[in-house]
Amino acid sequence: MTTERVFNFSAGPAALPTPVLEQAQRELLNWRGSGMSVMEVSHRGADFVEYAAHSESTLRRLLDVPDDYKVLFLAGGATLQFASIPLNLTRDGDTADYVITGNWGKKAVSEAKRYCNVHIAADAADVGYTRAVPADQWKLSDAPKYVHFTPNETIHGVEYHEIPDVGDVPLVADYSSSILSRPLDVRRFGLIYAGAQKNIGPAGIALLIVREDLIGSARRQTPGIVDYRTMADADSMWNTPPTFAWYLAGLVFDWLLGQGGLAAIERVNIAKADKLYQFIDASDFYANPVEPGSRSRMNVPFTLPDEALNAPFLEESAAAGLMNLKGHRAVGGMRASIYNAVPPAAVDALVQFMADFERRRG
Ligand SMILES: *Cc1c(COP(=O)(O)O)cnc(C)c1O
Repeated sequence: MTTERVFNFSAGPAALPTPVLEQAQRELLNWRGSGMSVMEVSHRGADFVEYAAHSESTLRRLLDVPDDYKVLFLAGGATLQFASIPLNLTRDGDTADYVITGNWGKKAVSEAKRYCNVHIAADAADVGYTRAVPADQWKLSDAPKYVHFTPNETIHGVEYHEIPDVGDVPLVADYSSSILSRPLDVRRFGLIYAGAQKNIGPAGIALLIVREDLIGSARRQTPGIVDYRTMADADSMWNTPPTFAWYLAGLVFDWLLGQGGLAAIERVNIAKADKLYQFIDASDFYANPVEPGSRSRMNVPFTLPDEALNAPFLEESAAAGLMNLKGHRAVGGMRASIYNAVPPAAVDALVQFMADFERRRG
């Protein structure tokens, strides 16, 4: 039991900015003088509609989203988009190309296969998903409807630091674990999507940014809440959206703007990641398996020299207020997720703890 907030390195649902939670707490019982919480008001009421529009315009400002892109707030998380994308963007007989750089890319493929022909343009399985295969090594099919990739593989800690060039083919990106961590040239993409619970807000909502010309040719059987045309025409309120998750996402957008926007948060993210990787690389005790040019700024997996040390590491780090460092079972060892809401002080404390643990156990 602790009475204070800890440093939370969870991969997701992940840490939220403390000022955001404090604002939500202040407003919980009486949102905007309504005498009700935001959870208790109609999504079609003037207050929520105005708030939703505000959250979208803040997001558009943060990412500099061009006017010919729609922004949607959708239930079902990123995983529903694994199916929604082929349902909206392909017809019978069409092929979509997929790049696999880890578990999330693999899961996207397994869903897409239910709806369209899937061509694997690259797969980093041969190097144990320790590398973001560069776009000039992708082998695209003849006429793909789109190319899907995962800019940041949350489990393996592998990130693309440049936007792949695929010519005129729409580029589709699962940005679940790195959206809003850096500025992004949205024009380079046909479609960007992200589950909220890493860098946007609480679980239960996904953000979708899609070029307008890609909307409107969903398969006839596509459920309305999955059809981008239906949802775009209804401003993401064709049915009741997850209003509380949307509200918190809007607070996070405001918080990011207050931090100076994405260029500013990127500088902080680079400093945090550099500090942790430099410490790991300088040590003979800890190791990170990812190729240096493909290392994620958001998710940093690392191993200890002996698996028997994992349990004491986790126990002692938790006792020091450093939570959720256990790595994913697919990779083993530890993983520190250092999203936007994880402050530099958390990384400082982690590095200090790691150095101390090595001194005692190394
Ligand atoms: C977490 C994650 C997902 C799954 O998101 P859900 O919201 O749980 O569906 C998909 N892709 C990536 C890259 C993720 O990190």
